[in-house]
Formats: sequence, structure tokens, C-alpha cells
Amino acid sequence: MSLTVNPVLCRAGVMDNYAYIITDDSTGICAVVDASEAAPIIDFCERYDLTPSYILTTHHHFDHIGGNEELKAKYGLQIVGPQVEKKLIPSMDIGLQEGDIFKLGKSEAEVIAAPGHTIGHILYYFREDKILFTGDVLFNLCVGGIFEGTPEEMWHSLQKIKALPDDVMFYPGHEYTMHSLAGLNADSEDMEGAMKEYYDIAVSRLENNQPVAPISLGLEKKCNPYLRISNLKDF
Ligand code: ZN
Ligand code: FE
Repeated sequence: MSLTVNPVLCRAGVMDNYAYIITDDSTGICAVVDASEAAPIIDFCERYDLTPSYILTTHHHFDHIGGNEELKAKYGLQIVGPQVEKKLIPSMDIGLQEGDIFKLGKSEAEVIAAPGHTIGHILYYFREDKILFTGDVLFNLCVGGIFEGTPEEMWHSLQKIKALPDDVMFYPGHEYTMHSLAGLNADSEDMEGAMKEYYDIAVSRLENNQPVAPISLGLEKKCNPYLRISNLKDF
């Protein structure tokens, strides 16, 4: 059982969203995680002869669902997303909540509720494949803004991510790495070493026109200031 992940940059130079085209290798069944806008996703699917069966939406913001309806019309796919935000996600077919399992062919995503950025934000965690889609909850070296929830909710959402194994690779909803790196200072020798590793990975991938993602949660936990905070009071 394994899952192939292909990032597609959307809203390039404006919001730098990533849609991810994911394929269950054993069946060829494929889905789009966060269909930010239709055109670049359709281009990618045509180039690689892919027909997505689902869109997996993390939350209702326009830059994560902008392509949903056009892709649904073109491919006849089903739109999957947080049940809590069903009213805010046009044409949504399947609502998911904490603890649900979504099957993509033989691959399985566990649904993790992660409110804070929005009330209903969910993460898709492919436990067997050690792959996590974090939408606008966790970015490289940063976190999403708290638009609808409370800092407490965001904190608890981040603790759920922190509890996942270090070898899980995460895929965020935007490319914000260099911006976040620029404002970051190491507070210990340990962090300084990890930051250097992070920086080298980021620069070499970006130079090759690749996303910085995926980064391991282990490295992220060492470098991301919001994951390093150890109690809610300091958050
Ligand atoms: Zn958002
Ligand atoms: Fe966003």
C-alpha cells in the first residue's frame, strides 16, 4: 500500500497555495487535496493522464476550494470536507469529522479535527504512509492565523500534530517557508543545528523549483517556534 503525492502550485506569486494530487498506487484511484484553483490542476491531470475521483478539502476558505465546482463538473468527482463547514463549501458531497476514516482505494486517511484557523478545519493523516496534510493549520516554520477559533483551540490542534511520530512527512497548504525562515532566530545550539538542516533542504528544493514540502514532523518540531512552545500560557 502506498500513496504518491504530487504538489501543484496554485495562485502562484499571489497566495502560493499548494494543491496535492494524491494517487493510491495499488488501484490508481486519485484525489486532489485542496483544489485551490482549477486550471493548474487540470493541466497537471491532463499531462499525466489522471482523473481525480475526489477532492479532499481541509477548510472552507476560497483559496482552498476555488477549483471545486469546475473540477466536479469536469470529472464528476465527489467533494469531501469537514462536516462542520458543509454549509460553507458549495456542492460538498461527503462530510467528515474527527476519527472518521476516508478510503482512497486501499489507502486510508484518518480525519483529525484541528480547529483554530477555521472552526471546522480537518487534517488528513495517512498513517500507514506516514503522510499528513495540514492545510492552513501548520506551515513550514509557522502556523495559520486564528480566524474563527480561539488560541486555546489552535494550541490543542497543534498538540495533536505534535503527538504524531517524527517520521511523518507533512504537506502544508501554502509555500511560506522562506518568509518564515527570515524572521526566525535559533534559541539554542540544538535548534541552530536543526535550523541549518532545514535551511539547506529549503534552499536546495526551491532552487530546483520544488516545494520545500515535505519536511518531517521531527525536524519541524525542532524548528517551528509554535511547536516548540511547551505550554498554553506562553502560546
Ligand atoms: Zn485558510
Ligand atoms: Fe489558505
